[in-house]
Amino acid sequence: MLNFFYRTSLVTFTILLSTFCPPSGYGLEDQQEMLSAIQASRGNSERLKELLPIVHCCFDQTQYEKILMTKLRDVKTSTKEFRELSRKIAEVLIGKVVECLPVEEIDIDTPVAPFTGLQLQSSVELVSVMRSGDILLDTFLEHFPDAHVSKFLIQRDEETALPQFIYMKASPSLTLDKPVIITEPMVATGGTLEMVITLLKEKGVKENKIIIACVCAAPEGLLYLSERFPDVQVVMTALDEKLNCKKYIVPGLGDFGDRFFGTPH
Ligand code: URA
Repeated sequence: MLNFFYRTSLVTFTILLSTFCPPSGYGLEDQQEMLSAIQASRGNSERLKELLPIVHCCFDQTQYEKILMTKLRDVKTSTKEFRELSRKIAEVLIGKVVECLPVEEIDIDTPVAPFTGLQLQSSVELVSVMRSGDILLDTFLEHFPDAHVSKFLIQRDEETALPQFIYMKASPSLTLDKPVIITEPMVATGGTLEMVITLLKEKGVKENKIIIACVCAAPEGLLYLSERFPDVQVVMTALDEKLNCKKYIVPGLGDFGDRFFGTPH
């Protein structure tokens, strides 16, 4: 009798779990194991590359990135300073994104001698996830001045942390097989990006053309995205520890948009 009760409860519990947990390539236990492995490997870039192959360039923070990130995280950093630092971090991210872009050789002449250099194979498409994606966008546009820009407004419900689609204006040139760079400073649960990537794929964008440029990512979000979109590429300046119960990144830097726009809640 007790055995029957135990088995029935177990089945009910399993059904409840599969109803409330998002579909995933991993079982719950595997997922927890993967998260623990990622957390334990922070600082070991070779192991992290195996665990999170969607992340490119790279897990080893430079000293300059560490300095910028420390100031950006600091709760005492003013809005004005936060804005300056965001621009500097965006510059760093651009260097990492370019490492993922196809390039070709080009023959030029310097004033002194012929030279074979490099250029990008094509222009890029930029996709900004409003509001905070726009913070990186201005700097990206300085470096990719002929890029077309698509905008998505997906807001995170503060109670449930679930993404809600509000608005999108997609560039018709998105489908031209060019690299598509999504600017999204914080990858927390990965839910917002899942929605953006799904919409992009519905528009005909190939997964392997997508590069996510983010400042700070949680292992949970990276794992979530790598299970669903194994061919996207992610570049970032910091892999953080975990999410807290409100789905904020720990140690993180708080709400990127609020800190940049000066709208703390
Ligand atoms: N978005 C943010 O701005 N910060 C977080 O920590 C998580 C999501």
